[in-house]
Amino acid sequence: MFLYSTHSPKTLVGLKEAVLRGLPQDNGLYMPQEIPVLPASFFEKLDEMSFQELAFEVSKCLLNGAIPEDDLREIIEASMTFDAPVVRVTDDIGMLELFHGPTLAFKDFGARFMARLMGYFVKDDKEDLYILVATSGDTGGAVASGFYKTPRIKVIVLYPSGKVSFLQEKQLTTLGENISALEIQGDFDACQALVKQAFLDEEVQNHLRLTSANSINIARLIPQMFYYFRAYQQLKAQHGKIVFCVPSGNLGNLTAGLIAKRMGLPIHHFIAATNLNDGVARYLQQGIFPEKATVPTISNAMDVSKPSNFVRMLDLYGGDWQAMKADISGFYYTDEETRQAIKRVEEEQTYLLDPHGAVGFLAMDAYLKTHPDVYGVVLGTAHPSKFLDVVEPVIGRAVEVPARLAELANREKDAKWMGTEFGEFKKHLLAL
Ligand SMILES: *Cc1c(COP(=O)(O)O)cnc(C)c1O
Repeated sequence: MFLYSTHSPKTLVGLKEAVLRGLPQDNGLYMPQEIPVLPASFFEKLDEMSFQELAFEVSKCLLNGAIPEDDLREIIEASMTFDAPVVRVTDDIGMLELFHGPTLAFKDFGARFMARLMGYFVKDDKEDLYILVATSGDTGGAVASGFYKTPRIKVIVLYPSGKVSFLQEKQLTTLGENISALEIQGDFDACQALVKQAFLDEEVQNHLRLTSANSINIARLIPQMFYYFRAYQQLKAQHGKIVFCVPSGNLGNLTAGLIAKRMGLPIHHFIAATNLNDGVARYLQQGIFPEKATVPTISNAMDVSKPSNFVRMLDLYGGDWQAMKADISGFYYTDEETRQAIKRVEEEQTYLLDPHGAVGFLAMDAYLKTHPDVYGVVLGTAHPSKFLDVVEPVIGRAVEVPARLAELANREKDAKWMGTEFGEFKKHLLAL
């Protein structure tokens, strides 16, 4: 498998370089040079495959020999340890529940696969690889959990003090081993600025082997294709035209779905659902991507005004808006509409949506009004118990927190307190 940068399509790198580097030097994003189509035999055998088997077949086809088959199988078996069921909400909408992993959000899929893949690439190296990750909450937890105890890899999580939830903080600060947390006296942007400065600092670069783990890494997109196949496998006997609705922020999830379709998965249509950070929805409707500042919403994992993976979407369609619009529709919703959807679906269908899934449900419901012949699958990106402060007042009762999240409450926090000056952070890194 070879990959090119969206900024210089002629320069190719191998999978190892793309994964360990994360971002190409020219600031584009890595894309697979070739997206192979799965053979008919794959679809003939699909019914008998376990989730791990189908993940193995899909990645084997895409990676095309970049990793020996036995090693790839091991990576899949170690990372894909929980399922992605489609659960009925209405007669024509199901939720693809992606929150059955350790941190209860779909980011577990990407983070766990990336961790195993990076671990595989550095396992015989003499030097440790340091992963710096700035988080506003969810990404850090998934990355920390994914890399926990990976030999040769150390993770440093920077999070904004007082701006992540109690349980999110516990997810970041209680693992120990190769995971350490820095509690920054600033906001998320300050955390991100520190990480960026570290990558630009020559002394730090000479002292530590650094990489990042954010959602632009191609290793996070690969496993996000697997669950589109898993959903199709569960639905294909009963439903013809399947439409996927993706609650979108940085557009990694949607991009993975588009690649799955290019690999031959018969997806009838996609929907990009956003909150008022609605750039991609407006682009799909009007052909222009509006320049706007990020606005805070209750579906905060989608509060992104300049989604990184949009470049990958443009690349897939050669910049052709009409062609993109033929495959993807865009919808956006306010917080008030989102709250009403949570309430209505809980009352009428006894299904509890999280705020991100609720945005997706609204968009799917709207699309079905003009396309009654399709079956809608909404990606359930997080468990509602991760957003108790939003969900409980809306439905007027307490929500049960799954044991694996609840038990974190009693663990002891271990984080190093740090200011927003780069000097202090640099000193910390140079002492490692
Ligand atoms: C990250 C996240 C999203 C957005 O996914 P993208 O791939 O960035 O578009 C949606 N919902 C939840 C709960 C998330 O954590």
